[in-house]
Amino acid sequence: MIDPVCNMEINEKSEFKSNYGGKVYFFCSASCKQSFDKKPDKYLKRK
Ligand SMILES: [Zn+2]
Repeated sequence: MIDPVCNMEINEKSEFKSNYGGKVYFFCSASCKQSFDKKPDKYLKRK
């Protein structure tokens, strides 16, 4: 699993996660999750 905000590799057991577009995304920290929740498209298009 890759944190879409900072591109860090993370464990799927991460407690920081969001549902978006029918998929679950995991984050390394609460701040990454918050950034994603504000502008999910920004991070998903950057791939
Ligand atoms: Zn992160």
